[in-house]
Amino acid sequence: MFKSLIFIAGLLLASQSAQAALNVLACEPEWAALTEELAGDKARVTSATTAFQDPHHVQARPSLIARARNADLLVCTGAELEIGWLPLLQRQSGNARLQSGLPGSFEAAQHVALLEKPSRLDRAQGDIHPDGNPHLISDPRNLLKVAVALTQRLAELDPANAAYYAARNHDFQKRMGLAIARWEKQAAGLRGVAVVVHHKNWVYLADWLGLSIVADLEPKPGIDPSVSFLSSLLEHQKARPARMILHAAYQSPKPGEWLAEHAGIPTVELPYTVGGSPAAHDLFGLYEDTVMKLKEAMK
Ligand SMILES: [Zn+2]
Repeated sequence: MFKSLIFIAGLLLASQSAQAALNVLACEPEWAALTEELAGDKARVTSATTAFQDPHHVQARPSLIARARNADLLVCTGAELEIGWLPLLQRQSGNARLQSGLPGSFEAAQHVALLEKPSRLDRAQGDIHPDGNPHLISDPRNLLKVAVALTQRLAELDPANAAYYAARNHDFQKRMGLAIARWEKQAAGLRGVAVVVHHKNWVYLADWLGLSIVADLEPKPGIDPSVSFLSSLLEHQKARPARMILHAAYQSPKPGEWLAEHAGIPTVELPYTVGGSPAAHDLFGLYEDTVMKLKEAMK
């Protein structure tokens, strides 16, 4: 009896030490999903935002700041995507570990070659992508690079589980690599297809699948289209017809509807991140659903 009690106590201790080591706050759902893929039960992971929030425009509410207080690691996109709220969150959290440049602050954009890097700073004219395009999540090949760097960061913060993180990353790279090859095959017919976007959040997707972005509903990233600008897009459509208008789950289909109606093309809502559609329940479902929705719109 006594021996079995000791045995049970030993099990309890063992399960306690195996409990989540790291408390991770992700800025966006894709980074929460990636951290879960890599850290398994060694981290408690939550996301600051959902797929239905524009990551450029988030309020650092007190409840969010409270969640940052005890976090060991922030996993964010960077490249100024969260410039409107992340610095405030870092400051107000009172958590010295999360400050930029420290191991507790991870930025995905630092590990990926950014597209649309401007030759000169253009923020004065309203451009909200002054560091290059931060919407790197729409290409899963970027995810593989970020996963390698995030695995290293997890190991740095929690060296006792370094081998565990490395093994999970190895498995993730293998599964995601195979899935990417499958999606590329499925999407072969999308190569060269002309699309209109609502915000430049699809440049990495276009780069990956060979879509051709012929127009943007926004005259500049973050700037709403005027009536005359939309009319000019319709003229553009006559010269170079697009097959569809893309928008993210977090965006309203409204700005695209006028053009869709006048040009006779569909608007397509893509999940953009994990949770943006029922099928996008994880990172694999995200790209699977994106490719399926694009193919569906071609019919
Ligand atoms: Zn943007």
